[in-house]
Amino acid sequence: MPVLPDLYAAEPIPDSALSEVTRLLASADLFRYTAPDQAPVSLLEQEFAQMLGAKYALAVSSCSAALFLSLKALALPERARVLIPAFTFAAVPSSVVHADCVPVLVECGDNYRIDMSDFAAKLPDADAVIISHMRGHTSDMDAIIALCAASNVPVVEDAAHSLGTTWNGQNIGTLGAIGCFSFQSYKMINAGEGGIMVTDDADLAARAIIMSGAYEHTWMKHAIPADAMNRWQNQLPLYNLRLSNLAAAVIRPQLDELPRRVANGRRNHDHVAARLNTSDLFHVPAPLNGECRAPDSIQFNLINVSDAQTQAFAQQAADRGLKVQIFGQSRDNARAFWNWQFLGDTPDLPQTRAMLMRACDLRLPARLSLDECDIIADLLLDLAKTLATSKAA
Ligand SMILES: *Cc1c(COP(=O)(O)O)cnc(C)c1O
Repeated sequence: MPVLPDLYAAEPIPDSALSEVTRLLASADLFRYTAPDQAPVSLLEQEFAQMLGAKYALAVSSCSAALFLSLKALALPERARVLIPAFTFAAVPSSVVHADCVPVLVECGDNYRIDMSDFAAKLPDADAVIISHMRGHTSDMDAIIALCAASNVPVVEDAAHSLGTTWNGQNIGTLGAIGCFSFQSYKMINAGEGGIMVTDDADLAARAIIMSGAYEHTWMKHAIPADAMNRWQNQLPLYNLRLSNLAAAVIRPQLDELPRRVANGRRNHDHVAARLNTSDLFHVPAPLNGECRAPDSIQFNLINVSDAQTQAFAQQAADRGLKVQIFGQSRDNARAFWNWQFLGDTPDLPQTRAMLMRACDLRLPARLSLDECDIIADLLLDLAKTLATSKAA
């Protein structure tokens, strides 16, 4: 039996991070605003903005902090209604609650993307929209941006899992008013924790910079026009959600690794997807037109099976050493909307619920070789045979 690859081990941080971390430890210059200029966090912001083709970037403590600051920067009224997809991570509705807004959940289809008819129906009552590109699946951004522009509703992109994905050639995270990314360990760039937000709007950037904790005139160390900053000086609370220089020193060398990780992640995903789609029991939804993905995991649906068969499939995979998560079937899963009890009553969203009850989630890191991907695909296709036999019985 070939040995299954470890799907949880992280890729090593590039060696070049070490000399910078050593320098920072020796000087103890860990706070972004201590050095007069060229602090690692500031350099990261400039490099990230340039890489994405955005005017401004603000590095913060997490993507959740970036989402919270985005809503705050938009200056929404209290109890503003924010549309979010019902298929997302619990951190997304949490950031909405944190910003004193009310999340409104929108149905998602069995291709994991926002259901556009439910979106259009709920948009007239919305003050803002967070499009969470969950697991890097892009919803129909042409339709979403057009509908929101027509209604004058701002769009925040939760691109935590979409770094490197493009839509009609444009980087995900630069389509809406603000884009938010994560440097948590399970994302394309790993600093343990961290996040960054990008925007082309100087006032949104200025407001977010101050609220992230740029007190007094520390904003002068940001690459942003002074007039925008002067408009907001002393007007806003400081939430102190800054990133440390140590995190930036770990992130910056990984920016150069991104094209390889994106290319290999897509190669691995598409290889396993094509193999799984040879079985009638599996379906890997195709990307949308215009979408070029950067996956580090794969999602697939089990077709025409019962709950019992779905659970047996996950158990048999686990028995053979492969952890396949079925979003709706594991207890207390943070991606199943009915577990977001902190929201009070969650609405019944039958379409999203049905998807979550059959959608399988498997990590597929970019560092795997195609041979290792085949070991995983072989095992899954073997389990499909067992599943087919149980269906026939
Ligand atoms: C990871 C993730 C987040 C949260 O990111 P943090 O940096 O851990 O706060 C939000 N949304 C999605 C889609 C994610 O995958």
